[in-house]
Amino acid sequence: HIAVLGSTNMDLVAFVAKAPQHGETVTGREFRTIPGGKGANQAVAAARAGATVSMIGAVGNDSFGTRLRSTLEHSGVETDHLRTTEGSSGTAHIVVDDEGGNAIVVIPAANGTVDHLAPGDEGLIASADALLLQLEIPLAAVLAGAEAARAHGVRTVLTPAPAQPLPLELLNATDLLLPNEHEATTLTGRTDPGAAALALLEEVPEVVVTLGAAGSLYAARGAEPIVVPAPQVTAVDTTGAGDTFAGTLAVALTEGRPMPDALAWAAAAAALSVQRAGASESMPYRSEIEAQYTS
Ligand code: ADP
Repeated sequence: HIAVLGSTNMDLVAFVAKAPQHGETVTGREFRTIPGGKGANQAVAAARAGATVSMIGAVGNDSFGTRLRSTLEHSGVETDHLRTTEGSSGTAHIVVDDEGGNAIVVIPAANGTVDHLAPGDEGLIASADALLLQLEIPLAAVLAGAEAARAHGVRTVLTPAPAQPLPLELLNATDLLLPNEHEATTLTGRTDPGAAALALLEEVPEVVVTLGAAGSLYAARGAEPIVVPAPQVTAVDTTGAGDTFAGTLAVALTEGRPMPDALAWAAAAAALSVQRAGASESMPYRSEIEAQYTS
């Protein structure tokens, strides 16, 4: 059983040839609403990979909230601890141009109300095998979740995104830190992932730095770091690759797979997701991961 404490967002995406300058109006080509948020995406990845998953967080009492909740439920995520708050759901307003560049405004809205654990959340965390955390809700709640997990001996996996410096108390309540290369650099000032991982080991017992198409680097105290490669595939859309990796890694670890196998399993899942467009809708189901992993 995996608990996820984090964000749910509706991504509102406008596709245009060239993004407007300040004061300019342009006609775009297409508009899409895509359910997202790093918390919800990791929950979907873990549920599709075969785990029982509960999402802790909040949506607004608007139509986006209804759709965000049903998207999670459709992938098998339990939403009893996903609160509905007065007001708007979290949104991300994204302009994507023909070069693939983007400009994004994030409005936390309901996600911003998740600044503490609600009654019952701690009991859910205590009963979980792992707690997945990211940084798209207030830090106070991330810290409260990590400390609740720590108090009950539940493994915490923290994706430090969006990148920002972190309080020592949060790092010290984290069992496995899972940054991408950019986040690892933000946290340590080191551009080399191996050097960044070693620096992070001073605060956290285990670190996995994801390396995009190059796979991932695992470092633990007292052991030589290892690099686990990713399958070579043609990437179509890498949105949500890191969240697929996080959710499926947690599933593999809670099933007792040794770390190198778990990393290869997560890499197989993430490789499947980058070959299809979209974030959570591109995430693979367990049977697909097994086929990719053994091949
Ligand atoms: P994020 O999506 O958070 O920026 P990464 O880019 O490091 O994180 O990607 C996370 C994981 O997704 C990688 O460790 C890798 O397993 C997989 N991945 C990402 N891009 C590719 C790719 N082009 N080919 C194969 N796997 C990929």
